[in-house]
Amino acid sequence: MSEIRVRIAPSPTGTPHVGTAYIALFNYCFAKSQGGKFLLRIEDTDQTRSDRLFEDMILQALRWTGLTWDEGPDVGGPYGPYRQSERTEIYREHAQILLEKGHAYKCFCTPEQLEEARQAQFKAGFSTGYDGRCSHLTPETIAQHERENAPFTIRMKVPESGKCEIHDPLRGLIEIDYKTVDHQILLKSDGFPTYHLANVVDDHLMKISHVIRGEEWLPSLPKHLLLYTYFGWNAPVVYHMPLLRNADQSKLSKRKNPTSILYYRDLGILPEALINFLGLMAYTLPEGDEIFFLEQMVKSFDIQRISLGGPIFDLQKLTWVNQKHIANLQPADLLGRLMAWKFNPDFMGKMIPLMQNRMPKLGDFMSFCDFMFYSEVSYDPSQLIPKKQESDSTRDLLYKVLWEMEKVPFPTRDDIEALCKKVGTLHGWSLRDVTHALRIAICGKSVAPPQFDVMEILGGDLCRNRILQAINALNPLGKKKLESLQEAYWQAASSYQVEEAT
Ligand code: GLU
Repeated sequence: MSEIRVRIAPSPTGTPHVGTAYIALFNYCFAKSQGGKFLLRIEDTDQTRSDRLFEDMILQALRWTGLTWDEGPDVGGPYGPYRQSERTEIYREHAQILLEKGHAYKCFCTPEQLEEARQAQFKAGFSTGYDGRCSHLTPETIAQHERENAPFTIRMKVPESGKCEIHDPLRGLIEIDYKTVDHQILLKSDGFPTYHLANVVDDHLMKISHVIRGEEWLPSLPKHLLLYTYFGWNAPVVYHMPLLRNADQSKLSKRKNPTSILYYRDLGILPEALINFLGLMAYTLPEGDEIFFLEQMVKSFDIQRISLGGPIFDLQKLTWVNQKHIANLQPADLLGRLMAWKFNPDFMGKMIPLMQNRMPKLGDFMSFCDFMFYSEVSYDPSQLIPKKQESDSTRDLLYKVLWEMEKVPFPTRDDIEALCKKVGTLHGWSLRDVTHALRIAICGKSVAPPQFDVMEILGGDLCRNRILQAINALNPLGKKKLESLQEAYWQAASSYQVEEAT
């Protein structure tokens, strides 16, 4: 049998998500239990949303979990480069092959034409996928567009009738009607591939034998299987894992649960506990033990034991698992973990300058900065509201600060000061009122070291979660109202930047 090769393929478009660690874990166990290889590939073809900073964070976070990869952008390997933005020429060549074989076509539709067609389909009650009009262009029309250097995308052809049969060993046979499958764009007009083309080409060239990914990718599989057939390649075996869910069964989202791996690290969750917990989301050891280490999971791993029920990302359970792992540590090891966590020269060293002129005695150090070490801060929600302000307005302000904070994953004190000023101006609040609400949300008290410095040291992940907790303590908005507040805010924010710039 050929070598087992699996991969995790994160897109660096946001902070490292626990869902990535969850999928990585199952890929890792699958490979390692059979002497195979586990690869890491960065899927950064979306030029507008991908950021090297996020890539660094993802690598840092996954390394922290202990799921080490055999090949990847940082460690190299025989099938590199492992960053898709460095492979664009390969995708262009493959798109060309599909054009030549007649499995893809150039689409010259402008964004306006596409929008018009979509509206018309919508009004007529049809599905709003691409209507395939450019697949019927005559060679003369194509040549004419080419002479005019008209911009184009390359789309894949999809059979007009019939069904795609998918065999997922976890789910059995799934049939998807080709009528519901869009003529996917493979190469965008800027010459960059979409996820579908790059993913299939890379899985083939990197000799991936099995794909284990989230169930949200199931609808894409007919497109991928068609591409394998068009190229004349064997498709890997594909498994779709159940998605992690919020307590209300909805897909795990940062609005309801912290989702960043680095948040859990900064909170003081041990990496082995996070891995244990993520394993429990879809797997039980044959002996039924709930507390286990990665090596035990690898040893007993059998992919058919994965359970498909919607796993709830239950923070209480995570805390329980963590507590068990902490209890099992040797005291000296626990001391080492605590020191590595926050009681180290780096973290404490950042606090010292803020505290030096405030503490009459060494023994007063902790009372000024205790909140830096707490999992959560507690306060009466009414304390969040500055004098002469209202509860709802405070909540809305905190949402706006949260959205701005999401744009700067590692904010410096200057970033935080600037965004607080901006939000204050747009919200009609003084900076003093903004920092009052934030001081309570972050520190749980009104007397604390300088707010922006504290937030920089605490880090974006913990700060964002405390702001979210404060919002929840007030009166969080429902989905619709939240969306309209957000829309109005970003609209106002765009003219704020214009005013600033002129
Ligand atoms: N880049 C995709 C993601 O971010 C990879 C999906 C896959 O595993 O095919 O999840």
